[in-house]
Amino acid sequence: MESIQAIKGMNDILPDQIHWWQRVENTARSILENFGYREIRTPVLEKTELFSRSIGENTDIVEKEMYTFADRKGEWLTLRPEATASIVRAFIQHNLQADPLARKFYSTGPMFRYERPQKGRYRQFHQLDAEVFGVEDPMLDAELMYMLRVFLEQLGLSGVVLHINSLGCPACRAPYRSLLQTFLLQNRATFCSDCQRRLHVNPLRVFDCKVERCQKIIENAPMLLDSICEDCRDHFAAVRSYLDRLQTDYEINPRMVRGLDYYTRTTFEIITDRLGAQNAVGGGGRYDGLMRDLGGPDLSGIGFAIGMERLILLLQQQRSEPQRSPLVFLAILGDQAKQEGFLITQQLRSHGIEAEMDYARHSLKSQMRRADKLAAHYVVILGDEEMAAGAAQLRDMQSKQQSSIPLDGLVPLLKEIIRNGDATAAKN
Ligand code: AMP
Repeated sequence: MESIQAIKGMNDILPDQIHWWQRVENTARSILENFGYREIRTPVLEKTELFSRSIGENTDIVEKEMYTFADRKGEWLTLRPEATASIVRAFIQHNLQADPLARKFYSTGPMFRYERPQKGRYRQFHQLDAEVFGVEDPMLDAELMYMLRVFLEQLGLSGVVLHINSLGCPACRAPYRSLLQTFLLQNRATFCSDCQRRLHVNPLRVFDCKVERCQKIIENAPMLLDSICEDCRDHFAAVRSYLDRLQTDYEINPRMVRGLDYYTRTTFEIITDRLGAQNAVGGGGRYDGLMRDLGGPDLSGIGFAIGMERLILLLQQQRSEPQRSPLVFLAILGDQAKQEGFLITQQLRSHGIEAEMDYARHSLKSQMRRADKLAAHYVVILGDEEMAAGAAQLRDMQSKQQSSIPLDGLVPLLKEIIRNGDATAAKN
């Protein structure tokens, strides 16, 4: 019978990969918590309207990429394509405005977009997401990007560039929209069919188009950054000066519009040239009108999302292997040794040391082979004979040195050896 496969573009993350994920997630958690963010978890399924209203009807995500279906009662539901809308919804629904401590949120989890899968682009992918509500000060924009930089540095990621832009506010975007539309209409015939439609319904989205001939025309298009109002210009200048003070390098990219309609003022992306066509590792920006548009209080918002798969692909390319804690393997020879070894294994684990034992009476040679495969740092060889003498053999798998270790007090002694990284301590 043919076996069942996972859905195209949706990947299993197998145990041999999971340490990368855990490392990224743990680093994110500790840095974000230091910056005052608290975790929030929202459902993966939401009412379709939440996304069409926030992301924008005429965006690629809403038009082409959402997993949308009617449930058994005919209600339209969508697997979340991003996290911001859900977090804003939760904030409004639970009246978190009343809680002065609930301003900064983070979340990690799967997102779903019906895109053509390729390296770095999947239909289920994972994001680390951060959002802050109710702070309009440009200081926060800079702080958010600085935090992102600290996070990536702590992971050891190099070779990425921070691109920033300002998308202005609704007041300065309206006249720009007409300006852009006039320019686009002059070149109407040359655009792809998608852009011909976009230039009527949502002209800014033409900047998202990947078709080369469209890109070429847009190179000469008027830039929103040149048309933003004085307030927006001041805000952007302040963001830049705070970034300078935080010694955070950036490039201004006036063509970056981001693929979602809710952005206002500051937008940014983390760009790489090492993932082929998928050049964005993460991105975000301000969305000062979104909370109000979704029926909540008139609070500003700013946030970002990092694509975990792309981040991990880059880290793997750099081969910055995460450090694992040393593993102790218990090689068992004999029935009595098995009983004692079972207890020692559990004690080691309960003292925070990763430990594994042989349960199946294999030969010493095959147990040592297994320890090697598991990349054990230490092997405790426990035979009935050694036990009678109240001792075991401890083998350091890296230095290949072997020494006797007393059974009495074995666990604290092993802990010390691991802390010092030196098995010779066992001799005394
Ligand atoms: P966006 O919300 O589109 O700006 O996406 C934020 C980040 O999520 C991107 O920079 C990517 O790292 C990641 N991302 C978006 N779409 C996908 C996808 N289909 N597959 C993998 N990662 C993605």
